[in-house]
Amino acid sequence: MTGATVIDGKAIAAGLRQRVAAAASILRKRHRITAGLAAILVGDDPASQLYVRNKAHACAEAAIASFEHRLPEDCGVTEILDLVARLNGDDRVDGILVQLPLPPAVDMRQVMAALDPAKDVDGFHPMNVGHLWRGDRGLVPCTPQGVMLLLRSVHENLSGAEAVVVGRSQIVGRPVAALLLAADCTVTVVHSKTRDPAAICRRADILVAAIGEPAAVTADWIKPGATVIDVGINRIAPADRRPPLVGDVDFDAARRVAGAITPVPGGVGPMTIACLLRNTLLAACRRRGLPDPLPLEA
Ligand code: NAP
Repeated sequence: MTGATVIDGKAIAAGLRQRVAAAASILRKRHRITAGLAAILVGDDPASQLYVRNKAHACAEAAIASFEHRLPEDCGVTEILDLVARLNGDDRVDGILVQLPLPPAVDMRQVMAALDPAKDVDGFHPMNVGHLWRGDRGLVPCTPQGVMLLLRSVHENLSGAEAVVVGRSQIVGRPVAALLLAADCTVTVVHSKTRDPAAICRRADILVAAIGEPAAVTADWIKPGATVIDVGINRIAPADRRPPLVGDVDFDAARRVAGAITPVPGGVGPMTIACLLRNTLLAACRRRGLPDPLPLEA
């Protein structure tokens, strides 16, 4: 075994961002529409602030307008819902992103359910969740969408593949499982109560790890030649150093067994922002009854 192909998420995401920018430019020229993304940031968590800044920067590069709305940590849910209602009615806004996590006192589900589903570029509104599981057209969550694009970069056809998803969160594990099922994989979801997860994972042609535990997936969980997608982002350095990131997979050991594998950083992470831009553009077109922009067909 010569070692796994390392899937270059940075390059794949850059390609997608270029295609989004080209499609956004066509939308502006042909229809005089500038797609717009509004971000709601509650509180002053430095990581969340950084994510929102990065998203604004990515929007600027793709010529998508961005609007940032900040609310204090101690704001009530009513204040958030009022802002969501205003953005739902703002025609310049095609996508609304609620930066997570919200303060513990705020019910995330209540906020997500208040979004106009047509502007729900994170794909967390119950209607979009339903569309996803029914296989209907809707807005697909960004990170799971990125996972599928990375898989498609190494698998022309996923039909019949045995896929195991480790993690069953609403934002990663479950939507990834729905997308794999839609791609005709045979899907198993492993979680913290699963008996002998290693044995189940060793069956997988496609293994997606979304756990949130550094290097929890070790080489003996991996079938030789499998494709491994590592969604995890874990900071492990002491607080006084710039924290290096590691994934949920023990990368150095896993790459000796797997056929293809994503690194952390540089794998799934960059895809999430690229897919957010893609969803914003899709939302801008669909809200106006325009066809999905062709250059995005991957
Ligand atoms: P989460 O909500 O905490 O869910 C973690 C899931 O993993 C849960 O379903 C949990 O099971 C399961 N789990 C935990 N320990 C396990 C174990 N030892 N064996 C099997 N299953 C286990 O996390 P998340 O939001 O899905 O995020 C997962 C990881 O992805 C995190 O590192 C996060 O930072 C990263 N992430 C990355 C991106 C990106 O853009 N790359 C986006 C989102 C998240 P139970 O349900 O039984 O508790």
